[in-house]
Amino acid sequence: MHRCHEHAHCIEDAIAAADRICTERGLRFTGLRRRVLELVWENHGSAKAYDLLDKLGGDYSAKPPTVYRALEFLQENGLVHKISSLNAYVGCSHPLEHSNCYFLICKKCNEVQECCAGTVAETLQDLANSNNFKPEQMTLEIEGVCSACQAGN
Ligand SMILES: [Zn+2]
Ligand SMILES: [Zn+2]
Ligand SMILES: [Zn+2]
Repeated sequence: MHRCHEHAHCIEDAIAAADRICTERGLRFTGLRRRVLELVWENHGSAKAYDLLDKLGGDYSAKPPTVYRALEFLQENGLVHKISSLNAYVGCSHPLEHSNCYFLICKKCNEVQECCAGTVAETLQDLANSNNFKPEQMTLEIEGVCSACQAGN
């Protein structure tokens, strides 16, 4: 992990934010939802649904649909993002505080960095408009090598 000193704090913050958002929205942050979010946050890489299922093991007699529903819930409430190119999920580091984000995916250390840039979304929107296309969902995922890996860390 390059991007944090105490990853336990990242997990704590993510769970606290989820707690707050669920309370504000009157939603239930169930044990399974919490556990799935913790597992997604196990590191700053992405997590595939079946890996999460594996890690849940005997807990909650987790079956695929249960885990997918938990992930859907987390995604709907902005707590995780789906990385389409990897078919995997990452925890959102600043839930609901951003609208336009793009993802930098390091193929060496597997970290996924979430960045925000309104201008990117505007540009994509303009491009779509110029093709008379009405976009509903836009994701930008960039694969490459992160700064720490470039430095050989
Ligand atoms: Zn961390
Ligand atoms: Zn986010
Ligand atoms: Zn890296």
